[in-house]
Amino acid sequence: MAAHYRIAGLDLVGLCDGVLKTSVDFVIGMERDRAADLVGADETGAVFIPVNNFLFERDGKTVLIDAGAGDTMQPTLGRLPSDLRSSGFDPSSVTHILLTHLHPDHANGLVDAAGEAIYPNAEIFVHADEFDFWMSENLGSEPDSVKRTRARNKINLKPYRDRVRRMRDGEEALGCTPILAKGHSPGHTCWRICSAGGDFLAWGDCVHFSGIQIAYPDVAVTYDRDPAAGRLSRRRILDMAASEKLAVAGAHVAAPGLGYVSKQGESYRYEPA
Ligand SMILES: [Zn+2]
Repeated sequence: MAAHYRIAGLDLVGLCDGVLKTSVDFVIGMERDRAADLVGADETGAVFIPVNNFLFERDGKTVLIDAGAGDTMQPTLGRLPSDLRSSGFDPSSVTHILLTHLHPDHANGLVDAAGEAIYPNAEIFVHADEFDFWMSENLGSEPDSVKRTRARNKINLKPYRDRVRRMRDGEEALGCTPILAKGHSPGHTCWRICSAGGDFLAWGDCVHFSGIQIAYPDVAVTYDRDPAAGRLSRRRILDMAASEKLAVAGAHVAAPGLGYVSKQGESYRYEPA
């Protein structure tokens, strides 16, 4: 069920594509038992994290942040279109989609099983670095997971190919500016959404395990392409959010994924909105 917030002068709708099963075995840089304890893992190490999406309207436009997994990953995912409808938004009313990155749980929900656009009237904003990495051809040396994600992204973006806007840091559209925060993926992006009442930051996958990585930002995950770069990005974004008192919207932060962070020494603390 969607949640409604008034944040930074915007009416923000918190949506959810579902729950993703993952594991503390993917945590890098923290002892397993400690990690399991902090995130409430079960005895096998399994952890269930939300896949959050957000939506706002401005200037007659309806802007969605990330597109969920569709029916491609786990049966507990792919709920975003129905969550939108039950919140009063038909997918055809979405005019713009901001993508934080092109991993399956953020981009595969752009199309249905037949490869048709779920959002037939939406223009896509994506960082040029992210788009170019996943839309380029494979080199022989890439891991199979990269090859698979590349192939899938060509399906995800095919019906949108004439309405993809590749953006770079500093560019702005509809008050939305991409901030490259690479590491998790080559062009992983946080979106800063400006508003008269203040800004908010959709930080995508800067954090996967919110029970760990906000307090311990140096902890990474094995599915970060470049964990060292990801650590630097996470600290930089957490610093920005704390020092500017920005509301943050996280794709995998415990529901509803919207809140504020404050700095405490070398660590950060999260308060839900
Ligand atoms: Zn993700």
